[in-house]
Amino acid sequence: MLDQGRLVLNRLADFVDRLPQRPATDLTPVLGSAELHKLVDELLAPPPEHGGDLEGLLSLVDRAADVALETAGPGYFAYIPGGGLYSSALASFYGQVLNRYGSLAATAPALTALEESVLRWIAQDVCGLPAGSGGLLTTGGSLANLSAIVAARHDRLGEDIADGTMYVTPHAHHSVAKAARIAGIAGARIRVVPSTPDLRMDVAAATAMIKADRAAGLRPFLVVGSAGTTDTGTIDPLRRIAALAAREDLWFHVDAAYGGFFRLTDRGRARLTGVELADSVTLDPHKTLFLPFGTGALVVRDPAKLAAAHEGTADYLQDLGTLELPDYAHLGPELSHEARGLRVWLPLHLHGVGAFRAALDEKLDLTDHVYSALRAVPNLEVPWLPDLSTVAFRVRAADDDAADAATRAVLARVNASQRVYLSSTVVGGRQTLRVTVVAHRSHAPQVDEAIALITAAAAAVG
Ligand SMILES: *Cc1c(COP(=O)(O)O)cnc(C)c1O
Repeated sequence: MLDQGRLVLNRLADFVDRLPQRPATDLTPVLGSAELHKLVDELLAPPPEHGGDLEGLLSLVDRAADVALETAGPGYFAYIPGGGLYSSALASFYGQVLNRYGSLAATAPALTALEESVLRWIAQDVCGLPAGSGGLLTTGGSLANLSAIVAARHDRLGEDIADGTMYVTPHAHHSVAKAARIAGIAGARIRVVPSTPDLRMDVAAATAMIKADRAAGLRPFLVVGSAGTTDTGTIDPLRRIAALAAREDLWFHVDAAYGGFFRLTDRGRARLTGVELADSVTLDPHKTLFLPFGTGALVVRDPAKLAAAHEGTADYLQDLGTLELPDYAHLGPELSHEARGLRVWLPLHLHGVGAFRAALDEKLDLTDHVYSALRAVPNLEVPWLPDLSTVAFRVRAADDDAADAATRAVLARVNASQRVYLSSTVVGGRQTLRVTVVAHRSHAPQVDEAIALITAAAAAVG
């Protein structure tokens, strides 16, 4: 064990040391190459009858991991980054060797209490939900959104779900509509409420749609607000949506997968008011708590409603007593899984909440800097003041087609640098680029480099 562990740790320490020098992506140059085909063929091979040696196998893993976006590196500003805290990976490793059962409290009650402390902190301290609120850790925001929709459906519609109608915006994450479909909500019952020019839910339009749907005999049951859209980081008018939900007796879900943890900062808390009025909130510790991929969270005002929608048991579980602690298996779709809380609990206790608050504040400062710097570039249009840590921009040109082409050319040039990596989206039918400053390893030097590369690319296409 010790020899294997040392080998693994030495290699990982070396990998993390080299992150600032590694290319931001090693993907584009090799896609379609003969070497990559060869490597893929090698990796598709079935396992051998007789085992090999660890070092050789890890070298193969490294070769596979090298052909990738450098999602752990400081130059990753695409999609919603996270980075992957080493302390959380250590906690996962520790917990997986202990291999405790994290699904039913009676099998490991004290570890359940540890996980529960994390969930209460997320529900009550971060989101501002009342005492008694709680929830479960999931593998990501998508599963959290799924369980939220299942709970809302069960609570508001019971078993007769055919006329159940829900309300989202054009900028809601696609996992919301996907979850709704999985939950049995017909596509035609997922209403897309228009957004205002600043990309927020048009609450007056939502009100009118709900009234019209009710008059037509449908059963409005759920409204979903975004606390930071994935496109532009925009926050919906959450307090007004909460008031609408209260008036119309709808379940109010907030998708705060990206934005939720910014409530740890003063600026974030001010901008994210209204989260505390939700019935359920999705957060993604693998985004804005910087954890490795695989950890999401769903917190709800009333965990009994989550349990009512997900509970299940069987004779072979009869020997397990019930405690005053939740059985996470009864709050979501999964049974067997690890004691998931450890990988959130250890980083929070090891570094302290202040370290996370400071890191998120730093990202907000860096975002302000990106926003002002890009506003100063003559042929760039930076239409929206960032609510969180995403700056969306595009190239100005004589017409929309020319602007779209130039915007895509800027993306290609910046990413070809191999120093930073950005992603694109479409907003209002227009090609739009985005810089999202979240990764815990991204600091001022990488942000300045991104600004310089964008500025140079804009000049070159202008
Ligand atoms: C990332 C994201 C999701 C989906 O979360 P996964 O962890 O990728 O499953 C949902 N909503 C928003 C706003 C997101 O940013």
